[in-house]
Amino acid sequence: MLRPVLVSACLLGLNTRYNAKIKKCAKVINFLEKNNMLPIPCCPEQLGGLATPRPSCSFSHGDGEAVLNGDAKLFNTNGENKAEQFILGAKQSLEVAKLSQCTLALLKERSPSCGVHSVYQGTQLIAGKGVTTALLSQHEVHILSEENLDDWNN
Ligand code: SF4
Repeated sequence: MLRPVLVSACLLGLNTRYNAKIKKCAKVINFLEKNNMLPIPCCPEQLGGLATPRPSCSFSHGDGEAVLNGDAKLFNTNGENKAEQFILGAKQSLEVAKLSQCTLALLKERSPSCGVHSVYQGTQLIAGKGVTTALLSQHEVHILSEENLDDWNN
């Protein structure tokens, strides 16, 4: 039986990235096939109501945890705070995970929604989680990034 895994939709080659450029990750597709996993595609930013393409966003300070707590903002390149949309997208993604019985998520590193180990504060890369990653982690969904697939040991 295939194991359902929530996957950042952009890694599967869907048109969800902020710049509307398709970037399918062969390493992720191979990993899913090799481990008998069924990808459940999910894009938190689209689920939160943001358009594709859209201006990129970065954290004012802190990371996804701070945004969920109301302690940080997420500004796009036009200077607009989009924290509300990111929080909605995280909640919707959690619903998708619950509906599809995903206890594992494979997410895109460095994204303000999906980042697993690092995200951007302005132009600076810092250690931290995206907003969706933070919320899924709080609900006991195990998280992998496309950059640490070798850590997977079932
Ligand atoms: S929000 Fe996540 S799934 Fe959507 S484009 Fe960004 S990294 Fe990919």
